[in-house]
Amino acid sequence: MTESTHETAHFHQNWQQQLAQAFTTIDDLCRYLDLNSSDLPVSAIASQQFALRVPLSFAACMEKGNPDDPLLRQVLPIQDELAFYAGYSNDPVGDLPSATQTGILHKYQGRVLLINTGSCAINCRYCFRRNFPYADLQLSKQQEHAVILSIQNDSSIHEVIFSGGDPLLLNDARLTRLIEQINSIDHVKRIRIHSRLPIVLPARITDELINTLTNSPKQIIMVLHCNHANEINERVIHACQQLKQQGITLLNQSVLLKGVNDDADALCELSEKLFQHGILPYYLHLLDKAIGTGHFAVSESEALLLIAQVQARLSGYLVPKLVQEVAGAASKQYVRGG
Ligand SMILES: *Cc1c(COP(=O)(O)O)cnc(C)c1O
Ligand code: SF4
Repeated sequence: MTESTHETAHFHQNWQQQLAQAFTTIDDLCRYLDLNSSDLPVSAIASQQFALRVPLSFAACMEKGNPDDPLLRQVLPIQDELAFYAGYSNDPVGDLPSATQTGILHKYQGRVLLINTGSCAINCRYCFRRNFPYADLQLSKQQEHAVILSIQNDSSIHEVIFSGGDPLLLNDARLTRLIEQINSIDHVKRIRIHSRLPIVLPARITDELINTLTNSPKQIIMVLHCNHANEINERVIHACQQLKQQGITLLNQSVLLKGVNDDADALCELSEKLFQHGILPYYLHLLDKAIGTGHFAVSESEALLLIAQVQARLSGYLVPKLVQEVAGAASKQYVRGG
């Protein structure tokens, strides 16, 4: 990776500054990548429906001049998003309205998931969030208090999951307060953080955040979201090393995406590189069928074939579990075919 002096200066800024300078237009991103947007199937309508948003840190992992780059495909608004696909809806997992009102999802035994914020540092085109313009939703102070009380009053809850959106968009002071409150609840054993930020904005792993996580008496698990080996650059590796050194368990979940990671080589390379840097592959999700994402779909039978190829080549612990979310089910569902 060769960096311009402009980029080097950018990466010396703090994470909020880097975030504020994320790409927000198709033309700016294309110019940076030496691509001509008029040669690409981009769509202004798609970008109005769900804005383009890409931190430079992630864009810097893309190959310049490559219109088919697997990272670019995850973030570039294209005409395919406007196509109709049968069976796609605005709420494929069937729980967003209640979650966004209460800020909490308690679907699975022993675990509650907090919607800490509705926003993300990056807008992934395949995400169901695209159809919910709840960018500013976040647990209000009052809601937060109510949520803590409800966890306190339910001794069946052993794990609290921070999710979103991206919970690491909360600032360090807010996160620290939240973690401290959960630390005071005896029956909670673990705190899990679901975040794409260590991958797309590794500057978010600040000393203060590391301190908060280190000082927590509860076990901390971080579930990252990385779909392709190219997303893991030196800054990402450094951020993960810092987390790892504090004894934080690092797992990864990916989404199986056509044109991004739907071949055995790409999946194997991803698993190998994750593990090399201390991250265990956890889940490989089938796409949630949200309107605007149909062109990313990989069929169940293709997915099973791919995972069998990966399994034939890699150590067992490098094979992620192929899962899908089924509305109303008691857990994520393994995809088994048949
Ligand atoms: C995915 C999810 C979890 C976590 O499930 P695991 O299988 O334990 O990773 C918890 N709660 C909700 C609502 C979820 O969607
Ligand atoms: S929730 Fe995850 S997949 Fe969706 S836009 Fe945010 S980072 Fe991307």
